[in-house]
Amino acid sequence: MIRQTVLLFGPPGSGKGTQAKVLEQRLRAAHVSTGDMFREHLSRRSELGIKIDHIMRNGQLVPDAVTNEMVRDRLLRPDVALGTLLDGFPRNIPQARWLDIFLAGRGYSIRGVVVLSVPRPALIERLKGRAMKEGRADDADEAVIRRRLDTYAAQTEACIGFYQSTKVPVHLVDGVGSIEEVTTRVLRSLGN
Ligand code: AMP
Repeated sequence: MIRQTVLLFGPPGSGKGTQAKVLEQRLRAAHVSTGDMFREHLSRRSELGIKIDHIMRNGQLVPDAVTNEMVRDRLLRPDVALGTLLDGFPRNIPQARWLDIFLAGRGYSIRGVVVLSVPRPALIERLKGRAMKEGRADDADEAVIRRRLDTYAAQTEACIGFYQSTKVPVHLVDGVGSIEEVTTRVLRSLGN
């Protein structure tokens, strides 16, 4: 049984991935990152990787049908039994609705949604820095960075609004500060 499903939201560059790695230990939850899964497909040039290459390079979202199917396969694996930390999924309202149906079908529910917020100018600086350090193709170009931030603002923020209109607790957490400071804020918001 998935005892707790926590959704982690935050624009590109908000430190979502970094926090997720710490939080998976603290919450004893399986970290499921759709961005990491897609990057893995890209790096091994799988059939899916080849299909999504141009989408990711352009900072757009992979189609819902492809993303939802990948998430379903992942959430059917046994290591999610104790809890799941979903990082980067859902990214839009159709994905959120799909997740609701999937979880309800298995008798699970969402414990909370955590939203990391960081001002846009700081995000752009962080992403440019990450492109230099990690060589991530989707971070390399400022136009692509802006498109990814716009996609987040247009689609993912609407998805946060979707949860705010339901009974699921939504926690807005200040994402500026050291890794430890932000982790403490997130855990406190979840009541840990
Ligand atoms: P992330 O590491 O979460 O910023 O994701 C990197 C990229 O993977 C995004 O810019 C999208 O192209 C793709 N991606 C990740 N998660 C999703 C999702 N839930 N739906 C569609 N595309 C996604």
